[in-house]
Amino acid sequence: MLGATGSVGRSTLALVRADPAAYRVTALVAGSRAAPLAALAREFDARLAVVADPAAYPELRAALAGSGIEAAAGTEAVLEAVIRPVDWVMSAIVGAVGLAPTLEALRRGRMVAIANKECLVSAGGLLLATAKASGAVVLPVDSEHNAMFQALVGHDRAAVERLILTASGGPFRTLDRAAMAKVTVEEALNHPNWSMGAKITIDSATMMNKGLELIEAHHLFGVPEARIEILIHPQSVIHSLVAYRDGSQLAQLGVPDMRVPIAFCLGWPGRLAVEGVQLDLAKVGRLEFAAPDAERFPALRLARDALRSGGTVPAMLNAANEVAVSAFLERRIGFLDIAAVVEQVLMQLPGDEPRTIDDIRECDGVTRRVARSEVARRAAQHA
Ligand code: NDP
Ligand code: MG
Repeated sequence: MLGATGSVGRSTLALVRADPAAYRVTALVAGSRAAPLAALAREFDARLAVVADPAAYPELRAALAGSGIEAAAGTEAVLEAVIRPVDWVMSAIVGAVGLAPTLEALRRGRMVAIANKECLVSAGGLLLATAKASGAVVLPVDSEHNAMFQALVGHDRAAVERLILTASGGPFRTLDRAAMAKVTVEEALNHPNWSMGAKITIDSATMMNKGLELIEAHHLFGVPEARIEILIHPQSVIHSLVAYRDGSQLAQLGVPDMRVPIAFCLGWPGRLAVEGVQLDLAKVGRLEFAAPDAERFPALRLARDALRSGGTVPAMLNAANEVAVSAFLERRIGFLDIAAVVEQVLMQLPGDEPRTIDDIRECDGVTRRVARSEVARRAAQHA
């Protein structure tokens, strides 16, 4: 379980908790928060608990003393978690830092449930090619992609006309640009439908999340950018649709609770029984739809352009966005600066054709440096 202490990690462990006899938890991985990780490792009787940050190791070791659970730290130890003989991996680290362990899990032919969209955006082509070569099964956790997967399975891929990616529109769906310029971190963290980690919640507010998901869908399902449509659907009940050439559209519906797509991945190819997640459409009453507005949400246009450019450009889009979102969460730049930073960075850097994961990593590093200086420039104005 990569990202065990996060929002997706905890939802996954909630499903394990509901039927503990069905699972054996081998390894739990977090970034730096040793105390909650140790508590989960003890509760689920994991064999190994890993913090990526070596500075958190003494605390983790102390918290696990006497438990018989192995404690480890550092990037090599994170890889060790997927090298251990496991048959199912949850990739739910936030950010492109999750790329290396996800790639390693795929290389080793594991069944990998991928929530970590940043790694798919940065290196989707390489990840999917690795999975194909090793026979690893990739299961999409992101609710929209999980919906598409469910609407695609058992159907003729050649008959797919387009993918319809639904979007709640986030907390600022109806706000104009002048109002968006003044939104606070707290307002941006207040998502109307979903409870998620901070980074993806900000991405939902800028709609960069939908842009990242567009690229994610392209890699997961091999559908070109022009045939992936974004549809605003404020209720987040239809998680996405697949339109077939005969005029049929297949959708997956459910309550906005990540336990539903995660359960699909845990149960695959079967279906688990999950308590308390049944959708009551009579209670929902109505479902609404609208076209997205790329003028108010430039992240949508930036992501489309990045996907069309291809090569390392999506990795640059992602890296610049990660830097900009962190800066916004630290209150160094304003809300509208997030997409503006990404756009500035993409204008400054040339794209390239990545051959290896090291090419992606290098591009990621260079982009972050350029993005940080763009953030510093704007932070000076913002202050
Ligand atoms: P959270 O911020 O809640 O959790 C992030 C997890 O990653 C934590 O366990 C954190 O550990 C760990 N982590 C952070 N940095 C590192 C690192 N350098 N090495 C190893 N682990 C690290 O995020 P979410 O659970 O919300 O999201 C996880 C991923 O899933 C993201 O890519 C997101 O876009 C995607 N996703 C999330 C959804 C959701 O509903 N939350 C829905 C769809 C996709 P620590 O606690 O120590 O910081
Ligand atoms: Mg999603």
